[in-house]
Amino acid sequence: MIGVAVLGSTGSIGVSTLDVLARHPDRYRVVALTAHSNVERMAQQCRAVQPQVAVMVDAAAAAALRVALADMPNPPEILAGAAALETVAALPEVEYLMAAIVGAAGLMSTLVAARAGKRILLANKEALVVAGALLMQAVADHGAELLPIDSEHNAIFQCLPVQPQRDLTRAGVEKILLTASGGPFRHTPVAELEAITPDQACAHPNWKMGRKISVDSATMMNKGLELIEACWLFATTPDRVQVVIHPQSVIHSMVQYCDGSVLAQLGNPDMRTPIAHALAWPERMTSGVKPLDLFTCGNFTFEPPAPERFPCLTLAYQAAQTGGTAPAIMNAANEIAVAAFLAEQIGFTAISRVVAHVLDQLPAAPVTDLDQLLAVDVAARARATQFITTLQR
Ligand code: NAD
Ligand code: MG
Repeated sequence: MIGVAVLGSTGSIGVSTLDVLARHPDRYRVVALTAHSNVERMAQQCRAVQPQVAVMVDAAAAAALRVALADMPNPPEILAGAAALETVAALPEVEYLMAAIVGAAGLMSTLVAARAGKRILLANKEALVVAGALLMQAVADHGAELLPIDSEHNAIFQCLPVQPQRDLTRAGVEKILLTASGGPFRHTPVAELEAITPDQACAHPNWKMGRKISVDSATMMNKGLELIEACWLFATTPDRVQVVIHPQSVIHSMVQYCDGSVLAQLGNPDMRTPIAHALAWPERMTSGVKPLDLFTCGNFTFEPPAPERFPCLTLAYQAAQTGGTAPAIMNAANEIAVAAFLAEQIGFTAISRVVAHVLDQLPAAPVTDLDQLLAVDVAARARATQFITTLQR
């Protein structure tokens, strides 16, 4: 039995992960669950999977969870606070860790899991964007495994040879073709984007996801974060990653080889496929996802992204090219801007303005260590927050 920790278990990826795990009770044992503050769902999950440990980052939520589980025969040990995420990530019983916290909040636990040599199933792309150099180094130094859950990166992983995954030139790879749905506003007149509401932005045509990543998909910052994620995972450079809009979200990404071959991974848009793939790798196991029906899934179309519609994608390409602390600055500004948009403090098009402003104000520097990156993250959040006060409607 493989011991698994699910960080961010109450979220969209967390719920899909528990669904896949429940299909294979003979293979996996859930050791730990963590969430921010959703007591009701966490209580339900604890009763269903009986973990050894449950973390609520919010202290009041942890207290409420203790009350909610008081009648459970074998209740989990309930821990509170962000530091408890790191405790869980280092538990010897945890062999696999699903990193499905949203945002830079997932960085420390992912890094701890890497240092403890775990198999990391990485959904939390922001961790790589902020600290890719440190995370990849920790994985290499401690014999950890990093398997991508993000559907595009999981698809690319599947289209690359096992060896050498991280030497694309030797593998004969010319380009990574990173597919994008284009989000809900692919055809919305640019002049109308200003008035988009949070609920409109979160109504993704193909995927049901958490609100932050849904907004990122609408601005295409998600694809920008994924560009940087791909560069770290596959040891490549932004010029070798091409974004391709494929609105049907059936092809999850492609790899173009020097002999003219293009390999693609296809499937219904359901995150349980990459989750099951990374859990079972290098084997395969069932995920609960329906087989793809080529006769009903419709035509496939492809188009390049329009820069004037998606300024966040351009900013991300620039940050990727600049490197150093630029992606961490961009990520922090984006997290603050998206939260302000979801709280209806700023308009949709202001998100890219906040990110551009903060990138402009804070000079990027070469990455030295974790403390530097954490300080950069704090500084960029402060700049973004300050700028937002000047924009408020
Ligand atoms: P979500 O908002 O549905 O869930 C987020 C989870 O993280 C919740 O369990 C929440 O309790 C927890 N959390 C939130 N803030 C936290 C904090 N400060 N500290 C600790 N825990 C916290 O998000 P999601 O859609 O499941 O996305 C999770 C991650 O996976 C994101 O990085 C996202 O980009 C990535 N991802 C998601 C999808 C998807 O289909 N949902 C696809 C690809 C990648
Ligand atoms: Mg993705």
